[in-house]
Amino acid sequence: MFNLILFGPPGSGKGTQSEKLIAKYGLKHLSTGDLLRSEISCQTPLGKEAKSIMDKGQLVPDEVVIGMISSALDANPDARGFLFDGFPRTAAQAEALDKLLELKEAPIAAMLALEVSEDELIKRLLKRGETSGRSDDTNEVVIRARITEYHNKTAVVADYYKKFDKVVMVKGEGTIDEIFNRLCTEIDKRA
Ligand code: ADP
Repeated sequence: MFNLILFGPPGSGKGTQSEKLIAKYGLKHLSTGDLLRSEISCQTPLGKEAKSIMDKGQLVPDEVVIGMISSALDANPDARGFLFDGFPRTAAQAEALDKLLELKEAPIAAMLALEVSEDELIKRLLKRGETSGRSDDTNEVVIRARITEYHNKTAVVADYYKKFDKVVMVKGEGTIDEIFNRLCTEIDKRA
């Protein structure tokens, strides 16, 4: 099994690059943002709880997303590997993920961290908000709150994987294909 984490702040291009990476490497895409939005559109109790938190730009509780990821891993026993997108987002989530993957004897091969300037992030998110239908992309206050959550709680996740020498920084500006090629070069070194 070959497991990767695609990491970076909101708007850094994780979703766009994930689509291309899963197609090329045959990985199963696990995006906690997508899983949460699907709970919201099905109007489940979990979705209702998550929506009010997501609309404020805050992180939903660790136990909620860890539970979702644990179920998704169990639901895909034959996957060649997983591409985690938007997860883990806290140190507690990273530790929980390592424990889940230990049971499968399939550790994280690398964390690919997309680097994008803050001005560019805000520009991209506001632009995405014009068409995505995502309420958390239309309001600059919510966008800034998400970036603040990223700095306060999520940036430390890179420190966690640095201890294991798994972090690869990748420039997240340029064309979609340029960024994709940079990611593939790094993955191919480790596959
Ligand atoms: P973005 O990376 O653009 O913020 P996502 O789709 O990854 O978009 O996440 C949207 C929202 O879903 C986040 O702002 C947060 O409220 C919630 N969320 C997604 N993943 C997690 C996670 N791993 N832990 C906590 N909250 C999460």
